Parts: sequence; structure tokens; C-alpha cells
Amino acid sequence: MRENVTYKCTECGEENYIGTKNKRTHPERQEIKKYCPRCQKKTVHKEKK
Ligand SMILES: [Zn+2]
Repeated sequence: MRENVTYKCTECGEENYIGTKNKRTHPERQEIKKYCPRCQKKTVHKEKK
């Protein structure tokens, strides 16, 4: 079962990326480094519940 997840910038809180993941294989919260247009740099984005 795949679920939609939102990735939120940890620095400004902007929700920049939307993806899907399999909760059975990846039950933990993921952190990804992505470019944030508001911060204008790469920041850590955390999965939002
Ligand atoms: Zn940001």
C-alpha cells in the first residue's frame, strides 16, 4: 500500500515536495536533502504526517 507523503523544509516550514512511499517497507520518517525555493538553498526536508 502506497501513501502520499509531504516533505517539509525544516528551516522555513515550506512544503516543497510531494511523493509516495510504501509504509510497509519504509515505516520510519524519511529525511531528504532538497532545494528549497524559499530558503534558496538545499535544506533537509522532513516527511510530514
Ligand atoms: Zn526552506
